[in-house]
Amino acid sequence: MKILVVNAGSSSLKYQLIDMDTESVIAKGGCERIGIRGSKLTHKTSRGETNIEQDMPNHKVALKLVLDALVNEKYGAIKSMSEIDAVGHRVVHSAEDFNRSVLLTDEVMKKCRANAELAPLHMPANILGIEACREVMPSTPMALVFDTAFHSTMPPRAYMYAIDYNDYKEYKVRRYGFHGTSHKYVSQEAIKYLGKPAEETKIVTCHLGGGSSISAVLGGKCVDTSMGFTPLAGVPMGTRSGDIDPAVLEYLAAKKHYTILDCVNYLNKQCGVAGVSGVSSDFRDLTKAAAEGNERAKLAIDVFVYNVKKYIGSYIAAMNGIDCLVFTAGIGENTWQVRRAVCEDMNFFGISIDALKNEQKNDGTIHDISGADSKVKVLVIPTNEELVIARETKELVEGKAN
Ligand code: ADP
Repeated sequence: MKILVVNAGSSSLKYQLIDMDTESVIAKGGCERIGIRGSKLTHKTSRGETNIEQDMPNHKVALKLVLDALVNEKYGAIKSMSEIDAVGHRVVHSAEDFNRSVLLTDEVMKKCRANAELAPLHMPANILGIEACREVMPSTPMALVFDTAFHSTMPPRAYMYAIDYNDYKEYKVRRYGFHGTSHKYVSQEAIKYLGKPAEETKIVTCHLGGGSSISAVLGGKCVDTSMGFTPLAGVPMGTRSGDIDPAVLEYLAAKKHYTILDCVNYLNKQCGVAGVSGVSSDFRDLTKAAAEGNERAKLAIDVFVYNVKKYIGSYIAAMNGIDCLVFTAGIGENTWQVRRAVCEDMNFFGISIDALKNEQKNDGTIHDISGADSKVKVLVIPTNEELVIARETKELVEGKAN
């Protein structure tokens, strides 16, 4: 079975074609600048990389180009479109409507449209991608895999904000959490590695990338997560502030003559480690600048690390313990300095790492960096959201999803 995984952004469309018999990627790539001048498709297979520069006024045109590339005689990966058995779409928000992946129907689509206002930066683009696929491949089964679904097991005490209950009911204002597909994948991989029943495990997963979130996974189920109603909450990120006193909004609005929308844009785009350091949102630049003595870069890394530590500590309290700490995503998998700093002075919790193992470059497999005396397993696990989407799509299409 071959599954096409589609991740549509507002001006981008990333894809992977996965052969599920071997779970191997047979083609992958992405369209950039859809709807903007200078659109480009980058397509990779075992035969190499192909770049196609062509106008893509909308997602439908982009998708058609992707399908043409996939079946191209010279640089394609399959002979005909009929070899694509199903499509799995990444969808950011499920609201309270879906607690698992679902097959696409008109009813499902209606609910997604109604939920679009909860994630205005992502949902309209996700919907465009789905609609383009439906038009171009009307008879291919499709599944939607939601970023929020893994967090749907959070108990009310974790997802409720202390606001008027009626506003939660009426406007759906609550913690949802994001990066669920990644937290699910790495926690399941960790459980396999630990070799004990899922019910007996207490895991904290740190997805640290351009956007970062941390989850508490008790008995294989998410019981809390750091992102909230939107992906702005939690630890500081590349350009996002993370948690902040909401009264700052009113103060900043007055001082900087901002509207509420300006304030939210500011917190999303001009803050985080980029705002603190004044150097970059990218941890490769930050660690380099810090090593060269840049004080603000050092401070930005410090603020980030301190907040990650605090979340880990609070989730250990929430679960009354921890067996395993997992690092994943761009920073979690690669920036050993951050892992070292996060795990420093955590011996009270039984967490320590092996300095040398921690500095080894990741080789794409599970890397155990636990110290010899560490009671807690500390693992670096490369995330693979596309594979989870493909696996869940396969289960749904085969009617095996429980
Ligand atoms: P996104 O949320 O955009 O998918 P990623 O998970 O790719 O983000 O993470 C991006 C972050 O990971 C950046 O801060 C980057 O500096 C950091 N990083 C550190 N080392 C690497 C590396 N070798 N490759 C990719 N990202 C890296």
